[in-house]
Amino acid sequence: MTHPDLAPATIAVAAGRPDRQQGAPVNAPVVLSSTYVSTGTPGAEMLYARYNTESWLPLEEAVGALEAAGLPGLAFSSGMAAVEAALHLATPGTAIVAPRHAYLATLTAARERTAREGGVVREVDIADTDAVIAALAPDGGAPASLLWIESPTNPMLEVADVPALAAAARAAGALTVVDNTFATPLGQRPLTQGADVVVHSVTKYLAGHSDLLMGAAVTADPELRERLHARRTTGGAVPGPWEAWLALRGLRTLALRVERSQASALELARRLAGHPLVAAVSHPGLPSHPQHERAARLMDGFGSILTLRPRGGGTAADALTRAVHLWVPATSLGGVESSLERRRRLPAEAPTVPEDLLRLSVGIEDVEDLWADLDQALHIAAAAS
Ligand SMILES: *Cc1c(COP(=O)(O)O)cnc(C)c1O
Repeated sequence: MTHPDLAPATIAVAAGRPDRQQGAPVNAPVVLSSTYVSTGTPGAEMLYARYNTESWLPLEEAVGALEAAGLPGLAFSSGMAAVEAALHLATPGTAIVAPRHAYLATLTAARERTAREGGVVREVDIADTDAVIAALAPDGGAPASLLWIESPTNPMLEVADVPALAAAARAAGALTVVDNTFATPLGQRPLTQGADVVVHSVTKYLAGHSDLLMGAAVTADPELRERLHARRTTGGAVPGPWEAWLALRGLRTLALRVERSQASALELARRLAGHPLVAAVSHPGLPSHPQHERAARLMDGFGSILTLRPRGGGTAADALTRAVHLWVPATSLGGVESSLERRRRLPAEAPTVPEDLLRLSVGIEDVEDLWADLDQALHIAAAAS
């Protein structure tokens, strides 16, 4: 199905369906076969399920169309498998410029990679456009071959000027990769803003039900797609057929889930900003957010993640995670269920993330129930600190 003029909400439902023949199934079948009948010199047909298999294709078509790539995406066994493949696009011995508040495992993978190959990771405040541009081509430093963008970042919710940064990276001879997990293709489509590659943790919003791990990489450039595909084949980080099927089933409701959860996130952020037991709230949809104007200009919606710092410091934040009944205290995000986490409980979290910062992933429950649970937990947390 190629309908570039369809809205993303429609693409999520309509893409990746079997051809419309009389009696054809509405949903793609799951094919459970590791290998394919084959003689002689192989052509474009299926050969072996680590190279390519029918069970990935509907999801890959849908994710490619959602990101307006004009090419199918590539499914990976996890978000990190897709991230690793994209980091592999960096030239050995050069710099990778990345947000200091990028996804933790992404920074670890980039640091390990550059340490092995003699390159360097330059960590930047991705919201500070001038600083990022300076880091792409510093005086005397190693030139950058890869600009990594997350926007909004995890968990500080900094918003990057993706078009300006991608243009600067191109001028400096670097590829731009955007991890679009937080915003989803409904919030922004980085390939249309100059990025070369988009990666997703499909585990989060695209699949949306906290019941599987998967990743995806998407590009409009056939040569880059070939390199990512080769990396997937060699690295072997391929998803199982059931995961791909379940992820596509989850993706069908992406627009409904995201519309509900981001409306609730904005409402909760507004209410929390006026709560006497709350020291600070951050959400790109609040006018108090430093990049609120930029987010309003570049994004459709402000996402479903917000952060909260309760009065009473880290003790109160920890107490709050034990006092909630409805919100799930857990890592990860993007599920139908609302969840929260004090990020600094993880030893590897960046020291610039405040001790008392809670990251809230808003799900699709009734907003009044979510609010009531947070309010009672804030009172218990205040008493405990
Ligand atoms: C979760 C996440 C990842 C890693 O994805 P997995 O599916 O857990 O491997 C990468 N980037 C972001 C922004 C994430 O939230």
